Parts: sequence; structure tokens; C-alpha cells
Amino acid sequence: MDLNTQYKSLSGEIHEAMDRVFASSQYSQGSEVSSFEKAFAKFCGSPDSAAVNSGTSALHMALLAAGVGPGDEVITPTMTFVATAAAVIYCGAKPVYVDCDPITMNIDPTKIESRINERTKAILPVHLHGLMADMDPISKIAQSHNLKIIEDAAQAHGAAYHGKNAGTIGTLGCFSFYPGKNLGAYGEGGAITTADAELLDLIRKLRNWGSDVKYHHPILGFNARMDGLQGAILKVKLKRLTSWNDSRRVLAAQYISGLSDLDLILPTEPEGYRHVYHIFGVRTPRREELQVWLNERGVQTGIHYPIPVHMQPAYRFDDTRDDEFPEATKACNELLSLPMFPELAPDLVDVVIQHIRAFFDR
Ligand SMILES: *Cc1c(COP(=O)(O)O)cnc(C)c1O
Repeated sequence: MDLNTQYKSLSGEIHEAMDRVFASSQYSQGSEVSSFEKAFAKFCGSPDSAAVNSGTSALHMALLAAGVGPGDEVITPTMTFVATAAAVIYCGAKPVYVDCDPITMNIDPTKIESRINERTKAILPVHLHGLMADMDPISKIAQSHNLKIIEDAAQAHGAAYHGKNAGTIGTLGCFSFYPGKNLGAYGEGGAITTADAELLDLIRKLRNWGSDVKYHHPILGFNARMDGLQGAILKVKLKRLTSWNDSRRVLAAQYISGLSDLDLILPTEPEGYRHVYHIFGVRTPRREELQVWLNERGVQTGIHYPIPVHMQPAYRFDDTRDDEFPEATKACNELLSLPMFPELAPDLVDVVIQHIRAFFDR
């Protein structure tokens, strides 16, 4: 990806926004952050949101607000970035991993129910690569077992599922504004969306040392506040997010039409979904070979992710069984992320397509 081209197209407005923060000296939270919260909630179709200092903090604060604590279990996919599971562990709870669907690579709803027991408190699905998890069956399971749903929407700003936006189906939705995300800060950031005003109030206390009135600390809190500068910058960038997501979708369509006849598995967008292609990941058992081939021709690629969470030493438990996650393990061995960012020139997508075709033509 290339963050510089986007910055150049926005630099005037970004500097004006930053100057407003310098003029007001509101460096931590402040009015730029609170107006960003309103604007981001509106973008998501949620009544309100709370800004925090990272996507990880968003997950951590959301899980705490949902009442997740020591002795609890949270059901979550192994096919994700480790932050999803880390946030559960930060609460003193245990992530209980579930394998992914072979096509979408999102949590497989048919494998959730068998992992539920009396300790289960919540389901934490991830909308991987910008495609939402299959939320209808997940919502039904959550309802019948009285579990909360917390969405990890860190890769899915603007994604939708049967008319509902990412972050609005669960009790709480968690977003990251890490620079490389579809909406990226110039630093770290995150947000939580929810329609529950009480939970939002609790999150606003948790992120700010457990206090609402200065120097009064009824609950244990954290320093998870968003910088004023990031709020101001994100507000400028948010106005472009829909058009940036549209550009990603056009580029994805170009990749798909150029590669669909090859022996590669391409991302899919099931009926009724809006994919926002945070990652454009293709799958082949010859992933390593293809990555070297592209690298030798000047095409950078990535792997999201090479190792499923249940295989990470810091995230394993005594009862973790490697044979329970065949689809995630396979996906991690086969996925290769092609260049994808809104400013990517269609000519360059064609170049990547030609190099991949040449690889399979040999
Ligand atoms: C990026 C990401 C996070 C963590 O967000 P940070 O802002 O980097 O803390 C959590 N979950 C997923 C799925 C992510 O992609």
C-alpha cells in the first residue's frame, strides 16, 4: 500500500484541521474528537460512538463494558489478527477459538454452538478482510444462549450485510484507525459504536481512568483516550471513506475479471453483502512460489495471516487442539494479499494481473 499519495491529496485540509487543534490546545480528546465520534457514528448508521486510542483498546473497553471478566469465555475465530484474542485475555477471560468457513474465511457459524457452555459470555466475530461475518445465524445463536455479540470491525468500516452496516448488528462494534486500515489515522486510533447509551457512558469512563468527574474514580479505568490531532485528521478523512471504499471495490472487480480463469481462489462477495476489500487475498497452495515471483518483478505482497491465532504460543491453552481448525490452517498456508489501496492505478493492477498470469502460464 501507499499512504503518501492519499496524504498529498489531502494535505491542505489536514494541516488546517491540525492547526485547529494547536490553536485550541485540546491534545487529548476535546471537541475535534467528540465531533468525529458523532460523524463516525453517522457513517456507520449507529446512534453514537466513543473514540479510543486503538482498535485493541476498542475491543478491550467493549468487552469490559459487556461484562466480560475473569472466568468467562468468549467465542472468537482463530482466523484473525491476534489483537482480537488479546483483548479477551486482557479482561481475564479465555478466547475459545472456532474454525472458519472455507469460502469467506470468517467464523463458521455452524461450529459455534458446540463451544458454548455455562462460562460463555459473548461471541466476538471478526469481519475479516472487509467482508462481514454471517451475522444472521450468529445473532440467532447469541439470542438463544443469552450471549452478547461484539463485532471486531477493525477491517470493515463501511461494509454491510443485508442492509446493516458493520458495527450495528452486535451490542457493540469495534473499529481500528491504524494507518493502514480503510479509515486510517496518522497515528493510532479506534472507536466503539453502540446503540446502548449506558454502555457508551461506561466506555467513556473506562477510557478515561474510570472517571466522569475529574479526580473521582468510581471504577478502575485506563488511559485509552484518542488524541485531539487524530480526531481532527480522521474527520477530514472520513468524508472520503465511501469513495475510497468504492475505489477498492472497482479495483477488486478488475482483479477478479483478470484472474478468474486461473487456478486461484479469489475473494467472494456473497449475495446481500458489501465487501470493502481492506485486503484482497488470493489463495493458492503455491503461495510462497507466487510471492517470490511477484517480488522479483517489483510487486510487493503480504500475508494476512501466516499463522492462525490458536498456533501462536502466547495464545494457546492446555486444551487447544491443532486438528480442530483445518480450514483456518489451510487458509493461512494459502493466502497472499495483492496490492490494494484506493489510489492504486488501474494500469498497475493490470501489470500485477499480467505477472500472475505469466506465473500460471509457465
Ligand atoms: C487492526 C486490527 C485490530 C487491532 O487494531 P489496532 O488499532 O492495531 O490496535 C484488531 N482486530 C483486527 C481484526 C484488526 O485487523
